[in-house]
Amino acid sequence: MGVLAGRAARRRAPSMVIPCKRPATQQRARQRGQNVLVILLRPLNTIMPELPEVETVCRGLAPSLENQILLGARVRQPRLRWPVPENLDALTRGQRIHHLTRRGKYLLAQLDHGWLIMHLGMSGSLRLTQAAIEPEKHDHVDLLLPDKQVLRYRDPRRFGALLWCEDPEHHPLIAHLGVEPLTEAFNAASLHALCQHRKTAIKLLLMNASLIVGVGNIYANESLFHAGIDPRQAAGKLSRPRCGRLVEAVRQTLAQAIAAGGSSLRDFVDGHGKPGYFQQSYFVYGRTGEACAICTTPIRHLRQNARSSFYCPHCQRR
Ligand SMILES: [Zn+2]
Repeated sequence: MGVLAGRAARRRAPSMVIPCKRPATQQRARQRGQNVLVILLRPLNTIMPELPEVETVCRGLAPSLENQILLGARVRQPRLRWPVPENLDALTRGQRIHHLTRRGKYLLAQLDHGWLIMHLGMSGSLRLTQAAIEPEKHDHVDLLLPDKQVLRYRDPRRFGALLWCEDPEHHPLIAHLGVEPLTEAFNAASLHALCQHRKTAIKLLLMNASLIVGVGNIYANESLFHAGIDPRQAAGKLSRPRCGRLVEAVRQTLAQAIAAGGSSLRDFVDGHGKPGYFQQSYFVYGRTGEACAICTTPIRHLRQNARSSFYCPHCQRR
C-alpha cells in the first residue's frame, strides 16, 4: 500500500511542475523570481502532504521565525524540483523574516526585500535545529539564524522546492491557485457559483487546486461523506443548500486534521522536530467493505481520475 501510494504520488507530482519543467522555462522562472525565496516540504513513501500538514508546519515555525534576522543560507544540494537560487545566501543574508504564512501547500516567508516560497514536495520536512548538529544525507539546505540555529530543509526524494520572488501572488506557482477553503471567501454561494454548468464529478472539482486549494484525496472523501454527497455527483447539479453543507464539511474536516497535527504525511515532522503525523480515524477513506459508522452499509470503493474514492452508498446520494 505504501509503495503504491508513493508511486501514485510520484505520477501525480508533475502536474505541479509543468510550468517549469524544461530548462529554458526554469531559467526564465529563476529570472522572474530573483527576489523571492520558496521552500517546499514533502512526505516520504506516502501520499502528498495536504493543507493540514503545511498549516501545521506554518503554525509550528511562525513563532520561532518571525522577527528573526536571517544570516544567510548554506545549500548542499540545489537540485530540488526546481533549482534552489544560486545566490540564496546573498538573497537571505541580513533579511528579517516579517511573516510566515501559507498559500495552498506553499509556505511563504516575507523578508525585507522579497519572499521565500517553500514546498515540502513528497518527502520534505523543515526543522529548527542547532547549526552544530551534523547535517544528514538528505539535509539539502540550511537557512542560518542567530544563536547558532538553523532552519534545516530535508527532502530525500527532492520533489520539494525553495524559491525566491518579489511578489508571490504573481508567481507562476501561486498566481493560479483557487480559493482558500478556510477563509470566508469559501462559502455556499461561492462554491455554488464554482459548480455552475460543470459536468465534472464534485469530488474532482473539490480537488482541483485552481478552483479550491488544499483539499486532497483524503479530505475530499471524508468531506463528501459528512455532507452526504455521492463523489460522482455532477457538480452543476448540486443545490446551493448542499453546497453549503459541503463547505461546512470541508472546513470541519480540515480543521480537525490541523488540530490533530496533520494526518497524511507519514514522515512528517513539525517545525520543532516532533512527529506531526497523527493517524486519524476516517469514516470512509481506506475502509472498503467495512460497515459505515452511521448506517452499517459496507463502504464502497471506486476510481475517479486514477484516485481512490470511498463512499457509503446509503448515506451519500446524488
Ligand atoms: Zn452510511
